Amino acid sequence: MENVSHLSCINCGKEYKPLPDRYLCYDCGDKGLLEVEYDYEKVAANWSKEELANTADQRIWRYRSLLPIEDDTPLPPLAVGNTPIYESKKLAEELGLENIWIKDDGLNPTGSLKDRASAMAVVKAQEADAKIISCSSTGNAASSLAGNAASMGGKLETVIFVPGRAPGGKLAQLLIYGANVVSVQGDYQAAYDLSAAAIKKWGWYNRNAAINPYMVEGKKTSVLEMAEQMDFDLPDWLVFSVGDGCTIAGAWKALKDLKEIGFIEKVPRLLGVQAEGCAPITSSFYSGEPLTVVDENTIADSIAVGNPRNFVKAIRGVKNSNGEMINVSDEEIYEMMRLLGRTTGIFGEPAGVAGLAGIRKMVSKGEIKSNSRVGFVVTGNGLKDVKNAREAAKEPLSIKPDLDLLEKEFIQQGVIKG
Ligand SMILES: *Cc1c(COP(=O)(O)O)cnc(C)c1O
Ligand SMILES: [Zn+2]
Repeated sequence: MENVSHLSCINCGKEYKPLPDRYLCYDCGDKGLLEVEYDYEKVAANWSKEELANTADQRIWRYRSLLPIEDDTPLPPLAVGNTPIYESKKLAEELGLENIWIKDDGLNPTGSLKDRASAMAVVKAQEADAKIISCSSTGNAASSLAGNAASMGGKLETVIFVPGRAPGGKLAQLLIYGANVVSVQGDYQAAYDLSAAAIKKWGWYNRNAAINPYMVEGKKTSVLEMAEQMDFDLPDWLVFSVGDGCTIAGAWKALKDLKEIGFIEKVPRLLGVQAEGCAPITSSFYSGEPLTVVDENTIADSIAVGNPRNFVKAIRGVKNSNGEMINVSDEEIYEMMRLLGRTTGIFGEPAGVAGLAGIRKMVSKGEIKSNSRVGFVVTGNGLKDVKNAREAAKEPLSIKPDLDLLEKEFIQQGVIKG
C-alpha cells in the first residue's frame, strides 16, 4: 500500500483514505465510483523492469508495486495469473490480420479472468477484518470468489447471488467450492439488487466489481502481465468483451500505470465488444447520452449486463485510449468459439471469445488495418458452459461399430480419399 496515495471520486474528485471497505463517494452515491490513485514518482523511483524480471512470485502479486495491498496480508494460495500468451498466424489470417496475440485467461485457477479480482477481494476482505464476502454475478465473479475464498482454508465464507440463468458449469463450481449460493429468480439486475440489500443489511465485505474500487486493480493485472510477456512492446489494439465494464476499465488502468512509470511508450487502442442483444455501453459510447438500461438477450451470459455499474470508467478508458466499441451477434460468437478452438486449441466460453468477432468486423470495415498488431484476451474457459459449446459445434458422427460403414461415411465427408 505504500505506493497508493488515495482514492478519488470519478464524479466530483473528492479524495478518500484508501480504507479496504471504502466503496463509494459519500457525496455522489452510486455515481461516485472511486479510483485507486498511486504516487507514480515513488513507484518509478523504487521499481524497475529488471527487478520485476527477478521477482520469483509468478502470480499477480509480482505487480504489488502497483497493487493496493498491505505487505503482511495473507495471500490466497491459488496461483492466479501467469496465464500463457500465444501468437497465432492461422487465427490472424482467418480474421484478416497478419498478427494476433492471444492471452488465455481461461487458464486461471477457476477458469476466468475474474480470479484476478477475486484474489484481490480475498486480500481486501481480510484487511477489513471481514469473515464473509458477498457478490452478485452472472457466474464467473461468483465462482472465482468462492474458489479464492475457499483456498484460505476456512477463514472466509462467501454468500453468492446468481441469476437463474447462470450456466451449469459455473453453478457447479460455486457449490463445490462450498459457497452459500442464492439463485435469484430473475435476471442479473434482480440478483444484483438483492445482493446489495443483503450486503447492506448484514455488513458483509462487498465484492461487487463496479462498487469496489479494488476489483479493477485486480483485473488490470491481465494487461500488466501481457505487457511483461511482450517485453513492454504492446500491440496497436487490445480487445476485450464488455459486460459491467470493469475489465476494460482495468485494461485502461494498467496502460495508464505502465505509461506513467515509464514502462511503456506507446499506449494501445482499446476495442470494447458487446453482444447485440445487450449493448448499453456501446450505445452510450456513441450517443454520448446517459446509459439506458436494456434487456439481457444474448447467449454470452458473462457480458449480459443490462444495467452495467461501471460504464463511466469503461467509456472513459476506451475514449482515453482513442479506442472503439462494437457489437456482435450470438451467431458470430458461436462461429468464433469454433474458429478459436480449431486454429489455436483454446476453448473459450461465449463471452470469452466475443471480442474476436469484434476484431473481424473492425478489420472488414478497415478500422483495424490488416498489418496492425492485435492483442486479445480470452476471458473465460469454454468448459464452464458446455451447453453453448454444444450449440456452437456440429454433432459427432454417430455410427454402428462397423469399419466398412465408417469408410463409406469418411469418404462421403472427405476425411479420407475413396
Ligand atoms: C466478467 C466477464 C467479462 C466482462 O467483464 P466486465 O468487467 O463485466 O465488463 C468478459 N468475459 C468473461 C468471461 C467474464 O467473466
Ligand atoms: Zn464524489
